[in-house]
Amino acid sequence: MTATRVAVLLPYPFDRAFDYALPDDMNVAPGQIVTVPLGKRMVPGVVWDAPADSSVPDHRLKPVAAVLETPAFPDTLRQFIDWVANYTMAPRGEVLALGLKANLLDPPPDRYGWVAGAAAPTTKRREAVLATLAALDRPDTAALAEAAAVSPGIIRAMADAGLLRPARRDQGAAKLDPDAAPPILSPDQTGAADALRTSIAAATFSVTLLEGVTGSGKTEIYCEAIAQCLRQNRQALVLLPEIALSAQFTARLAARFGAAPTLWHSALSPAARRANWHAIAAGTAQLVLGARSALFLPFTDLGAIIVDEEHEAAYKQEDGVIYHARDMAVVRARLSGAGCILASATPSLESSINAEAGRYRHITLTARHGGAAMPRIETLDLRATPPERGKFLAPPLIEALAANLAGGGQSMLFLNRRGYAPLTLCRACGHRLNCPNCTAWLVEHRAHTSLLCHHCGHTERQPTLCPSCSAEHSFVPIGPGVERIAEEVADLFPAARRIVMASDVMTTPDQAAAAIRAIVAHEIDIIIGTQMIAKAWHFPDLTLVGVVDADLGLGGGDLRAGERSAQLLHQVAGRAGRAALPGRVLLQSYTPDHPVMRALCSGDLASFRTAEAALREPGHWPPFGRLAALIVSADQHDVADQAANALARTAPRSDVIVLGPAPAPFAMLRGRHRRRLLLRAPRGIALQPIIRDWLGRADPPRAARVDIDIDPISFL
Ligand code: ADP
Ligand code: ZN
Repeated sequence: MTATRVAVLLPYPFDRAFDYALPDDMNVAPGQIVTVPLGKRMVPGVVWDAPADSSVPDHRLKPVAAVLETPAFPDTLRQFIDWVANYTMAPRGEVLALGLKANLLDPPPDRYGWVAGAAAPTTKRREAVLATLAALDRPDTAALAEAAAVSPGIIRAMADAGLLRPARRDQGAAKLDPDAAPPILSPDQTGAADALRTSIAAATFSVTLLEGVTGSGKTEIYCEAIAQCLRQNRQALVLLPEIALSAQFTARLAARFGAAPTLWHSALSPAARRANWHAIAAGTAQLVLGARSALFLPFTDLGAIIVDEEHEAAYKQEDGVIYHARDMAVVRARLSGAGCILASATPSLESSINAEAGRYRHITLTARHGGAAMPRIETLDLRATPPERGKFLAPPLIEALAANLAGGGQSMLFLNRRGYAPLTLCRACGHRLNCPNCTAWLVEHRAHTSLLCHHCGHTERQPTLCPSCSAEHSFVPIGPGVERIAEEVADLFPAARRIVMASDVMTTPDQAAAAIRAIVAHEIDIIIGTQMIAKAWHFPDLTLVGVVDADLGLGGGDLRAGERSAQLLHQVAGRAGRAALPGRVLLQSYTPDHPVMRALCSGDLASFRTAEAALREPGHWPPFGRLAALIVSADQHDVADQAANALARTAPRSDVIVLGPAPAPFAMLRGRHRRRLLLRAPRGIALQPIIRDWLGRADPPRAARVDIDIDPISFL
């Protein structure tokens, strides 16, 4: 008798599904989650397509151990995993691992997190905690205490008093109401919202680029698309580039739909992850707010995907499976018959060109809502008015800060550099403190009294003797990070209330939520931050933005340096003057005539994009052509060279241009030596088959690793 075979894909870096024998008393369908033996372990896997591997005889097959009760992976998710694996050239099992984790599979916890109880609050403080709670998705004690800025003791006391009670599993996510609190839209907004609603109502695949200046109401408008999706009983997904944003967003969505969305990001507690995953698989989670990995959730019926701030580089996952979440969102929408909405004030050249070519629908909003004016943006020429020696804020910016402070306004200083100083060097011999594992300087973090490598996490204390010349106490910090700017602000304005916002200081969404609450409540006068503050925040009292180093993003010869710098600075500038008070933006620059500065000051980013396009089109640079990078790495530099040369010798000669090998800008990273090759081809050519064939012919030493980055956006 022959065994019944099933192919099971395992969440490990194997490209193929493995065949297992199905015991007589078991039945499975594709997509079902099973446990199977792998070596000596029991592992979860997903029943994939037809068994294929007849090379293993029946009697050598291992049996499927169990079929789990967990809802099966929908076909659309399996197709998506196949598609992503094929496109990114990552092993299929590794892609599956983005959506299947063993610790998600146990039944969801019976109860976890808090919801509001029946009793009514008796104090203002307790009332405030309940208001905070309304905007959160079943937070645990620590998260609620932090978001509401109270002690955990108060949360426990409120539970004892019946103001809070633990959420039960069957209450999972609360029901969202598409009509809970719709805004009254302006005529422009109504037109845009109608167009989006129509796309979603069609329940077929479409992509719309929603382009609107900061503060024009893009969020309000895509919420109308979500509402339509909810009315059709389909699930909606909103992707954000950074989880720190989720706090203010959750509150906004909760206010609009009468209940909080379901969250998906790495900072969730294991219990919350498990509960949310099951709610999504069961279809009870109607609206998910997540980071890029939310694309791999088992939605039962996905009707809309919104990619907010679609131009953000943070959508590119750079480790493991290297994929661009914006591009994969479009694929996921196509496979699910869903509408995809890409929202941005500064769309990527990729999306702009797709819209221009008619591949995407295009909606534009040109005015801020409620008559708020766009901020006035000016450059501040550092050659004419330099900062004082050893300082970083130029006199005109200091004056503007002083005036704004005196008038009761809120200000923000932006510098895209964490820590105190990006470089520490010896005054006596010029020796620079480098990371032992990376081609990188160590960054001083004064708050932690340490030097830190931002690439591998290596930390050390500042040495008292220079390792090169043995001079004593000879180290000086060079250049500013946000901590140093905060110090300068403290010296200038000792009475001003300050806050530093950077990813190493605010590590959880709840911490960010507490900070945002304080800023919105105007308990802060001057915000000093990295790109973390550039994002979609809405601070009504913020009227002055100072960019400490507007030239920072322009160096480095990256293909998108200009585009990215313009996007980031426009985004930062867009934080100013969003409500009744007008905003002013000062860009400190040594190159005030650079096209990026001119585009920012004139507000004419469209012409800037046209100029960028004209630069890229002739050479088939993206988005007019395709790129792929091969990154060769090894513990030994000669092994890395051998491997890179083996690839160079066998490089494909037709259809594509191969650049390199060259040492990567980070020639050493986390202790590994790195070399890069870059392939470029016209748009119509698929690079994956060419690379597959190439890697099949080249014979790099086994000790070397070759990572493939399709559509690279980082060239480090
Ligand atoms: P964007 O996402 O384009 O930056 P938002 O959707 O965040 O813009 O809107 C900016 C601000 O204006 C928000 O506070 C939002 O609530 C408010 N707003 C926008 N449109 C409306 C409207 N039609 N009615 C009331 N408030 C609105
Ligand atoms: Zn390092």
